[in-house]
Amino acid sequence: ASLYKIDRWGAPYFSVNSSGNICVRPHGAETLPHQEIDLLKIVKKASDPKSGGGLGLQLPLVVRLPDVLKNRVESLQSAFDFAIQANGYQARYQGVYPVKCNHDRFVVEDIVRFGSAFRFGLEAGSKPELLLAMSCLCKGNPDSLLICNGFKDAEYISLALVARKLALNSVIVLEQEEELDLVIELSNKVNVRPVIGVRAKLRTKHSGHFGSTSGEKGKFGLTTTQILRVVKRLEQAGMLDCLQLLHFHIGSQIPTTALLADGVGEAAQIYCELVRLGANMKVIDTGGGLGIDYDGSKAADSDISVAYGLEEYALAVVQAIRFVCDRKSVKHPVICTESGRAIVSHHSILIFEAFSSGGYDSPVMSQAGLQYLVDGFGEEAGADYRNLTAATMRGEYEACLLYADQLKQRCVEQFKEGSLGIEQLAAVDGLCDLVSKAIGASDPVLTYHVNLSVFTSIPDFWGIGQLFPIVPIHRLGQRPGVRGILSDLTCDSDGKIDKFIGGESSLPLHELEGNGGGVSGNGRYYLGMFLGGAYEEALGGVHNLFGGPSIVRVLQSDGPHSFAVTLAVPGPSCADVLRVMQHEPELMFETLKHRAEEFCRQDDHDCGRGDGSNDDHGVKNAALASSLAQSFHNMPY
Ligand code: PLP
Repeated sequence: ASLYKIDRWGAPYFSVNSSGNICVRPHGAETLPHQEIDLLKIVKKASDPKSGGGLGLQLPLVVRLPDVLKNRVESLQSAFDFAIQANGYQARYQGVYPVKCNHDRFVVEDIVRFGSAFRFGLEAGSKPELLLAMSCLCKGNPDSLLICNGFKDAEYISLALVARKLALNSVIVLEQEEELDLVIELSNKVNVRPVIGVRAKLRTKHSGHFGSTSGEKGKFGLTTTQILRVVKRLEQAGMLDCLQLLHFHIGSQIPTTALLADGVGEAAQIYCELVRLGANMKVIDTGGGLGIDYDGSKAADSDISVAYGLEEYALAVVQAIRFVCDRKSVKHPVICTESGRAIVSHHSILIFEAFSSGGYDSPVMSQAGLQYLVDGFGEEAGADYRNLTAATMRGEYEACLLYADQLKQRCVEQFKEGSLGIEQLAAVDGLCDLVSKAIGASDPVLTYHVNLSVFTSIPDFWGIGQLFPIVPIHRLGQRPGVRGILSDLTCDSDGKIDKFIGGESSLPLHELEGNGGGVSGNGRYYLGMFLGGAYEEALGGVHNLFGGPSIVRVLQSDGPHSFAVTLAVPGPSCADVLRVMQHEPELMFETLKHRAEEFCRQDDHDCGRGDGSNDDHGVKNAALASSLAQSFHNMPY
């Protein structure tokens, strides 16, 4: 377990139990020993056939853990409650969850439900996101904020105004100056008093990968001059009282609390200036950026790590706002954050299976076969072979490698000329592998094939090189015997994982034996990708038409088992993914079925049975059609 640093990136939600399996601690630090859930048991429950008491789902599988989600929302709230109390801050914390991080219906509904007691709200950045946030918040706390970010046209703004009519606490955050005229015009038209926010373009710049949109030249928000014009225009329209919120976002994965405090301090100054200019300011919304320590290194100079935890983050925000507001004698604002990654990353685990490892192919060669091989060599290759044998006898390892390499090259040449058969070439490859393995010079890194599409399930790895912890979920009591990279099922050279946390270019892995993981794994070898609950699902595409994973929702339970599966959704079928690309599986099936009928008829005719023996024809035809129908129904993995 220490090899995979699970205690560093996994605490307090993941650890290794006495069976050598990863167990989930669903309530974080408060989890009692009997509440721990063995991840392998979930996988078996999900994937065992229905006849064996399982759910019959295919892998890859996303295991969603609402208890972890609850713990994250509550921990964030407690961190701010503590910071507020410890600093004598005179207003409350009231966070929102940006739905773009994971739009899954149950994730959003769960967050609204878990956060309802402390008015936790939602953030939307597009019209469909706004619609889903509106409908979810109907079941939430009426005071929860509904922050409307993103580029807005008249329809978006009208919808945000409708939300206010429905007594939802929507705030239209201006990202572009032009949006203001639309807000004024449309709100007058529908007779709704809007609550308006402005997104400020801060000078503070986050220099990591995720901060490229921050700073003065950043893509989003209003400049100082634009903010001043907005204030003027609202004053002219008699609507300055509607301006109540200041928003900014320095970027995701803010590396240090020093940078955070710098940005929050700058924003607090703008907030105080807006108060001075007569706006009815109430809320400062510090955006997202609360980071995740993916490798557990707590390094401040890495895109996949951050040098602080929830508590330090909350303290930095509260102290920076308090300091500025106290100096300007401004009433402390409600503090809102839009943390996404920090809320949803831990709650979902992607499980996939390694089913073969490429690498050393053991040559199968009899004495006669060997003679045939040697006889087939030309004069030079024959000499290389004899030299190789002699060097082996003398134990001269470097010479062995040299002769093996020469032999291989010569044989490839002979094959290209047509004077060596394919069986002989394969045998030479095997012989050379055998030599390098015997003297410990073979490439120690194996390629494990995994039933996954990197493009669908870990798009940020492919797109921006982001690393996630990837670990076998069982056999952790055994020392891994090899190192490997993971190659996915797509026919794409980018479809592989060859970089791992800790800067490693391969992962320690257990050998796939005939019986794989033995009793615990039922002969299978399962790996998990952790901390990928944010962004990955929404970004993933259907490259090679591999669809998404199956999903189970698992709650900790105090019954005979420590968990209960409350939802099981099979991944999309071949027909589903074809539909995404506008194909019509029903028509495709009819075309293929028609073709099958024609061929069966032709086949019968050729066999001279074109007359009365239609029974056979019918059976064959029905079998073909049913196998085709099944193929549309199967998962693409
Ligand atoms: N708010 C805004 C405006 C964003 O652009 C983002 C994402 O970059 C977030 C919130 C969520 O950020 P994070 O997931 O880093 O908390």
